[in-house]
Amino acid sequence: MSFDYDLFVIGGGSGGVRAARVAAGEAGAKVGLAEESRYGGTCVIRGCVPKKLMVFASEFAPMVEDARAFGWDISEGPFNWPAFRGKLEAELDRLEGVYRKLLAGSGVETFDQRAVIVDPHTVEMADGTRKTAKHILIAAGGRPSVVEFPGSELAITSNEMFHLDRLPETILIVGGGYIACEFAGIMNGLGVAVTQCYRGAQILRGFDDEARGLVCEEMRQNGIDIHMGTNVLEMRAEGDKVWVKATNGTERVFDKVMFATGRVPNTAGLGLEAQGVELGRKGEIVVDDYSQTAVPSIYAIGDVTDRVNLTPVAIREGMAFVDTVFRGNPTPVDHDLIPTAIFTQPEMGTVGLSEEEAAEQEPVEVYCTSFKPMQQSFAGRAQRVLMKLIVSQSTRKVLGCHIVAPGAGEMIQLAGVAVKMGATKEDFDRTVAVHPTMSEEIVTMRSPVR
Ligand code: NDP
Repeated sequence: MSFDYDLFVIGGGSGGVRAARVAAGEAGAKVGLAEESRYGGTCVIRGCVPKKLMVFASEFAPMVEDARAFGWDISEGPFNWPAFRGKLEAELDRLEGVYRKLLAGSGVETFDQRAVIVDPHTVEMADGTRKTAKHILIAAGGRPSVVEFPGSELAITSNEMFHLDRLPETILIVGGGYIACEFAGIMNGLGVAVTQCYRGAQILRGFDDEARGLVCEEMRQNGIDIHMGTNVLEMRAEGDKVWVKATNGTERVFDKVMFATGRVPNTAGLGLEAQGVELGRKGEIVVDDYSQTAVPSIYAIGDVTDRVNLTPVAIREGMAFVDTVFRGNPTPVDHDLIPTAIFTQPEMGTVGLSEEEAAEQEPVEVYCTSFKPMQQSFAGRAQRVLMKLIVSQSTRKVLGCHIVAPGAGEMIQLAGVAVKMGATKEDFDRTVAVHPTMSEEIVTMRSPVR
């Protein structure tokens, strides 16, 4: 049977674009791709990239203060949100253009519309056009989810944060995960009065307790008003503001309320279940180690599968899919020991197991140091950083590395190489320190603290 394409990809985000490009450009496949929104997906358009640029923007206020402490005669002016937003939008337009160019350059035929699956080898576009393909790859991503409660329609999500007409004076951020904590830092840095409420006992659940404890402490020291064990019960519009009633009994009015209470896979209405593609509890596509669904011709990668929802992981999954299907080299995706950074202020970088997870698995030694770094200490800041290694008592391997410090994301990428290679504590010890840096402490911790 002949098909219009060897591969049809639904979704033009990081994972879908990479798979399409490599399948077409390097593996010589005939590839089509449909994207209903903007090319680049969550990461480029409404996630990692604009978020990180906002983190950069928000970090200048304390820098001005610190510069004064270092002898510079400078003063802080107001932050111009519309000017920044204009530049941000132009940058995202540029990046979207790059994505489109990459696809065109690799010979991928693109369709700027929604596509759904009508049989295991056929997709139908919003305008009714049908295309057949030997393989279909779903890389449709995810979107923020807000539970329904009275007034929940007044909530905004991370999607809207990049497009605000003006910066609010006050904001309530609901949630304690990556997105909530990152935006709390961004808004606080830009001069917005930030209140954050989280239903659990400590933010950033799942990460190392000591590391998230320090992030929380520093966020509070930076001026973010964090309330644990607190959720929103009800909201009401009050003029252009939002009245909020919380479970701790407080009733307050905020200019904006942002919910960052998790994300859900974009699988609704794609025609998947009708074809026999299995979906999980959150609507995620269930796949095997090779990203293949229950229907042999249909594969899925990235957030739509809700495995590890990170851009570089979606890209890896896309590459492994191409190796498996178009290069005759079945490649399972390795989801073990993924280094990652949370762009809170201060940043957290982490790879491997938390102390709590490791201790459940086997007897461990914990090496940990927390100190005031040179630059901030000279500037008169109380800010502390943390370096922590979790070591297996039996194999001496470093099972986890956790860093809370400015630039922790940059540091953990490199520590991640060592941990992925199976480095032992003694390998770290025999590496000479780079002096004077913060990260040198990672190779100079002599005695376990526990
Ligand atoms: P997370 O799943 O990380 O966090 C969701 C938060 O909302 C948790 O604190 C959760 O609480 C809380 N929550 C969930 N449901 C409710 C509810 N009904 N009422 C109140 N609170 C609720 O989701 P995010 O949206 O922050 O991020 C999604 C994913 O995106 C991340 O898991 C990550 O993979 C990715 N991401 C990565 C980034 C990075 O690499 N720097 C940055 C941003 C996102 P509880 O802990 O109690 O469940």
